Amino acid sequence: MSVQQNIISIRKHIPAHVQLVCVSKFHPDEELLEAYNAGERVFGESKVQEMCGKQQRLPKDIHWHFIGHLQTNKIKQIVPFVELIHGVDTFKLLVEINKQAEKQNRKVNCLLQVYIASEITKFGFSSDELKSLLATAEWQALKNINIAGLMGMATFTDDKNQIRSEFKSLKMLFDELKNIYFSDNASFKEISMGMSDDYQIAIEEGSTMVRVGSSIFGVRNY
Ligand SMILES: *Cc1c(COP(=O)(O)O)cnc(C)c1O
Repeated sequence: MSVQQNIISIRKHIPAHVQLVCVSKFHPDEELLEAYNAGERVFGESKVQEMCGKQQRLPKDIHWHFIGHLQTNKIKQIVPFVELIHGVDTFKLLVEINKQAEKQNRKVNCLLQVYIASEITKFGFSSDELKSLLATAEWQALKNINIAGLMGMATFTDDKNQIRSEFKSLKMLFDELKNIYFSDNASFKEISMGMSDDYQIAIEEGSTMVRVGSSIFGVRNY
């Protein structure tokens, strides 16, 4: 199926309140343009170099989301244009993003990545780490970042019940943090969870943003 056909069939399962992020990493410009011409404007990339190149070449009304593991020395390259950084998993990274954003006179939207999977390879805060981070007032002094919500990845497994319970735990943590720290902050609203194989479960469990790659663009050639 073509990119356009894939998008049409995926869109049928995504309600209007859920943002589709088209994960275009490792795919060439032409394929992003196919998605663009099908109406998509939000693209997710995981490599700084690749995202910057695509941003320069492709239409300027695309919203670029960084979904990879961000190295501090590369933050300044994406700060001028990135709309949302999904995977912030240390306080140090938050501080560095804030520093670069301040230099470039921007406020950068960030999602805090939470470790919900049972695998040991995934990045992210544990829920306890995140609670103790937010309990300190330090993050509130960072005026050039906006904590827009949480992001998580479920375990890579066929066990749908496990995936569902991991998404449930992220949603519960979100609600808890919202109540304690962000009740008067309308911009803390996103739960980025769900990929090609599990986005429908994620939506049922409260996802506001799904990151879908291979179901749109096909397999990636790394
Ligand atoms: C690559 C990637 C995706 C997309 O995965 P698919 O299974 O191809 O949909 C989503 N989120 C993150 C963080 C990724 O790195």
